[in-house]
Amino acid sequence: MVLEFREEGIYCPAGDFHVDPWQPVERALITHGHADHAYAGHRRYLATEAAAPVLRHRLGEITLETMRYGERRDINGVTVSFHPAGHVPGSAQIRIEHRGEIWVVSGDYKTTPDGLSEPFAPVSCHAFITECTFGLPVFDWRDEATLATEINAWWQANAAEGRPSAIGAYSLGKAQRLLTLVDPSIGPILTHGAVEAVDEILRGQGYALPETTRVTPETDPKAHPGALLIAPPSALEGRWLRRFGPAATAFASGWMALRGVRRRRAVDRGFVVSDHADWAGLNAAIRETGAERIFATHGYTATFRQWLESQGYDARIVETAYGDELVDEADTEDAA
Ligand SMILES: [Zn+2]
Ligand SMILES: [Zn+2]
Repeated sequence: MVLEFREEGIYCPAGDFHVDPWQPVERALITHGHADHAYAGHRRYLATEAAAPVLRHRLGEITLETMRYGERRDINGVTVSFHPAGHVPGSAQIRIEHRGEIWVVSGDYKTTPDGLSEPFAPVSCHAFITECTFGLPVFDWRDEATLATEINAWWQANAAEGRPSAIGAYSLGKAQRLLTLVDPSIGPILTHGAVEAVDEILRGQGYALPETTRVTPETDPKAHPGALLIAPPSALEGRWLRRFGPAATAFASGWMALRGVRRRRAVDRGFVVSDHADWAGLNAAIRETGAERIFATHGYTATFRQWLESQGYDARIVETAYGDELVDEADTEDAA
């Protein structure tokens, strides 16, 4: 076994390192900066160059080494490299090779390009540890152009009535994804501080994002009629939004594909925008690895495993402490 599944996380015994561990370890390879993957407290971190600024922003002073995508490094006789996962800017799958046996830890991934994250690159391997957050056939994402049309039409209609439009979106990844989808000619784009902090970091790295204005206590709500507000979902329920008057509200998440979840959220609209692969994306990604052994984490693991077995794979479930399946797509991030 190139990798083992331990209480503290995924471990490589030959290389003596962990991948996205949830308990403090000596050496952690990190796929991306979401709170359920990048925990504080490890002695040494290794991540992509592209993920580093966000990791430093979220974890503070850490001992962090970086690698470029595709670059190889030897760790105690084990070869490791990072490959684009298409999930959020800087996100990676980690390829781990020991004595000719190759394992890949997907982290979270999205197979369709979003114009911002480094596009997903399939990596051949013998064993693939895949997330399956949206591992049911009901999850079938629309293409970027359709999503953009839908969101812009909603914003435009609210702006025409002089109403602000507020979208709840995870501050790393989802919020910037929305920025690439919206049409800035409709009106000003205002952001919550948590979102703008990440925007600034990514702009500094050269990711192209439209102009946005950070909302501060001094912001005059009346000075931006018809604005689009982008904030972590929790901010839509409180004082932060109320000062802008009656706003049209929406939530952007893959979970919006489920009517029940949509109804539970006290918002007017749900846009099905996800940073994860849908059912077709998961299946295509697994096929492209050529792997025979699949380990499923994150989400609908039991049914997904059964499905993979029916397709002839040696499929297993890996219990992780990645939190419940809503984590990446919900509003828990800033609590972490
Ligand atoms: Zn993630
Ligand atoms: Zn995750």
